[in-house]
Amino acid sequence: MRTCDRIGVETMNVYVHIPFCRRICTYCDFPREMAKEPKRRRYVKALLREAEIQRTRLSSARTLHLGGGTPSELGMKLLGELLDELSGMMPLLEEIAVEVNPEDIDESFCRQLADTPINRVNLGVQSFDEEQLCRLGRGHSPSQVEQVFARLRQSGFDNIGIDLLFGLPSQTLGAFKQDLQRAVALGPDHLACYHLTLEAGTRLYRLWRQEALMDLPGEEAAAEMYELARDWLPAEGFEQYEISNFTRNRPSLHNLAVWRGEDYLGLGAAAHSRLNGIRYANVRSVKRYIEAVESGGNTSCVESAEAAKDDLLLGLRLREGVDMETFKARHGTELFSFSPRLKEALAAGLLEVRDNRVRLSERGQLLGNEVFARV
Ligand code: SF4
Repeated sequence: MRTCDRIGVETMNVYVHIPFCRRICTYCDFPREMAKEPKRRRYVKALLREAEIQRTRLSSARTLHLGGGTPSELGMKLLGELLDELSGMMPLLEEIAVEVNPEDIDESFCRQLADTPINRVNLGVQSFDEEQLCRLGRGHSPSQVEQVFARLRQSGFDNIGIDLLFGLPSQTLGAFKQDLQRAVALGPDHLACYHLTLEAGTRLYRLWRQEALMDLPGEEAAAEMYELARDWLPAEGFEQYEISNFTRNRPSLHNLAVWRGEDYLGLGAAAHSRLNGIRYANVRSVKRYIEAVESGGNTSCVESAEAAKDDLLLGLRLREGVDMETFKARHGTELFSFSPRLKEALAAGLLEVRDNRVRLSERGQLLGNEVFARV
């Protein structure tokens, strides 16, 4: 069995958004904020109330993913209380994953984390270069990451992921290779390598606009970094299962389920859900979310009913691609009839069809946006 075959049936998958951060990274445009303890506590209470309303759906959940923001920013006491309540409502969970900031993980936090039902930890590392970390507004050092990683392993976690960024200001191919090597040397079970994108409204974007940061690697240099990861990581025992994600036999079951078009339920401010092919989004503002839950109001609105398009956009990111039979059974139409412009991508060698599955070719992985624009 390939590592990615573990979820093959329709399941419920739950995402919980924790929108709090210790500081705001210079490149970040996610829904997040800095907040004091009373607001965090009020938010967790609202989350649990929303979970209670969704109890029936939660009872069939196989994966629970706590993301953000930074879930570890809640502190172990509040995080522990939240997990106790949530996992009590989800008896069938196979994976309980949490994203953590290396800054938050001291020895005591780590010990207490190991006492929770969490079985997957993802560390937001981004880089092992001090200067880059400073530029990105991260508060941890490379040696802190190494300590935290060792601590997590000693505490018994056997499924630890690391996230890296590439295409950073002034970054050379050699510098990114060093980041990859230092990450791999720690022995993670999962590595995600994301291309830094400058989003309007972020501090990094403003610096770039003011021409204080003109040395961003160009498209070609960034493509070389991506190819380096894609070509080198398999030699180190990592299987690429999605455009940006690599694993040693431990894929993120939650993300895999979402990419495969399974239903998922998002709890919390700005969380998205997909239920029976319809996508919903909760209100983005933490304040408005809390007020809506507390007053018994509606927290979400319908965002899109384009399930077939969603399935293509997410499924094409996977190395296994999109199964044409499953697509037809789900949406009642052939994949290339639904999206005829994908034939152009096929003819251009950006897509390939193998074993009745459509997936990005190696070149298509580099030019994914050209393919996605044709969906
Ligand atoms: S820790 Fe993550 S969510 Fe928080 S500010 Fe940094 S990038 Fe954004």
